[in-house]
Amino acid sequence: MPAQVIPEAKLDQPVDFLEKKACSQRRLEEKVAIITGGARGIGEAAVRLFVKHGAKVVIADIEDAAGIALANSLAPSAAFVHCDVSSEEEIETLINKTISLFGKLDILFNNAGVLGNQSKRKSIIDFDANEFDRVMQVNVRGAALGMKHAAKVMVARGSGCIISTASVAGFMGGLGPHAYTASKHAIIGLTKNTACELGRYGIRVNCISPFGVATSMLINAWRSRDEDEEEAEEVEKMEEFVRGLANLKGVTLKAKDVAEAALFLASEESRYISGHNLVVDGGFTSSKNCVG
Ligand code: NAD
Repeated sequence: MPAQVIPEAKLDQPVDFLEKKACSQRRLEEKVAIITGGARGIGEAAVRLFVKHGAKVVIADIEDAAGIALANSLAPSAAFVHCDVSSEEEIETLINKTISLFGKLDILFNNAGVLGNQSKRKSIIDFDANEFDRVMQVNVRGAALGMKHAAKVMVARGSGCIISTASVAGFMGGLGPHAYTASKHAIIGLTKNTACELGRYGIRVNCISPFGVATSMLINAWRSRDEDEEEAEEVEKMEEFVRGLANLKGVTLKAKDVAEAALFLASEESRYISGHNLVVDGGFTSSKNCVG
C-alpha cells in the first residue's frame, strides 16, 4: 500500500517553529519568580539565568549579606527578601512582599536545602533525631509551605509553575545521609501529589534531581573528609571525583546546568510537562555502577 501523504497545511510549519524560537530568546519575559536558597550555589545560578531571560526575581534566603549583594548587582530585576523557608510566617511574608514588589507570582523555585551534618557513612544506629528534624524542616516542610502559599495565589490566577530541587538521592539509596535521602524522596512524592491536584488550575509542578555540583553544600561535606586541603584544590578534587562517577566523561556538572533545567521547566517550552522529576546527572543513575 502506498504511504499516505499528509497535506502540507496539516504539518507543523517550519517557519512557525523558527519564529517561536526567535521569540523565545528571553524565555521568561514579564514573569515574576521567587527562588529560595537564591543567595548562592544552584539558586544563585538560577537567579542570574532567570534575570537574563527577562524575569523579575525575588531572592529568598537566610544569608542576608550574600542575598542583598546579589540583588543589588541585578537591580531593578531582582530583590532580596529574608526568609527561613521552614517558617510559615516568613513564607507568607515572602509571597506578599513579592506581589507588592512586582505585582504577581508566576514561578516558585523551591531550591533551599541543607545536607545535614551526618556523614554518608553514618549508620542508622547513630541516627540523630534532632538532626533529622532540622533537615526535614528545611528541605520538606520548607518546600511544602512554599507550594501551599504559592498555590493560593496561583489558583486564584489560574496559572503558575512550581519547581523544587530534589536530588539523585531522592530516588536512590546510598548517595547521601539518611535524613537528606529521606527528605529528597519526599520532595519527589510531594511534587507528584501536588501536580495531580493543581493541574486543573493550570499550574505545573515539577522537580529537578541533580547529581553532585561543587557548591558550598558539597564542598563543606567534602572538606570534612580532610581539613587541611586548600579550597581550590578541594573543588578540583571533588569535581574530578564526581566526573569519575558520571557516564558523561570529561563533562563537569555546574550549578548553571541545573539552572538551565529549572529555566526549561519554568518556560513555555515545557508547557505540557507536569509531575516530572528531571534528572540532571550525566547518566550517572543509569549506570549499574552508580551506588557508591
Ligand atoms: P548551597 O549550600 O550552596 O545553597 C543552599 C542555599 O540555601 C544557601 O544560600 C542557603 O543559605 C540557603 N538555605 C539554607 N537553609 C535555608 C532556609 N532555612 N531558608 C532559606 N534558605 C536556606 O547548596 P546548593 O548545592 O546550591 O543546594 C541547592 C539545592 O540543590 C538544595 O536543595 C540541595 O539539596 C540541592 N542539591 C544539591 C546538589 C549538589 O551537589 N550541590 C545535588 C543535588 C541536589
